[in-house]
Amino acid sequence: MKKGLDRKKLKEYKEKLLNLKEEMLEQIKDISEDTLMKSQKDMSGDMSGYSIHMADVATDNYEREFNIGIVSDERKMLLEIEEALKRIEDKEYGICHKCEKIINATRLNAIPYVQYCKKCQEEIEKENKV
Ligand SMILES: [Zn+2]
Repeated sequence: MKKGLDRKKLKEYKEKLLNLKEEMLEQIKDISEDTLMKSQKDMSGDMSGYSIHMADVATDNYEREFNIGIVSDERKMLLEIEEALKRIEDKEYGICHKCEKIINATRLNAIPYVQYCKKCQEEIEKENKV
């Protein structure tokens, strides 16, 4: 028997993660469609009703890149959610990857796909800054 969370708790977190996953997929879909539509409009060269100013074009490009940035962030988050779901199946959920202590419940509730306890996360962030 491993030292992880009890079955009832795991089930709660699993539901949370599944909801979050669905939300994330919806958002990625929305943003992707939005970005795709904009690209197609540009490619077809349909500028009717648009005054062509460089500033507008720049804003469009910026917006598209911004959206792509969001999508890649959300994809990353999605991967972390998948990881967390896997850890639930392995009964290792809620245990810090680094120090193997149980992660604080408040922290898990706030970020259900979190991989490290607060202390380790801070250490990792410090290391990454150097
Ligand atoms: Zn830790």
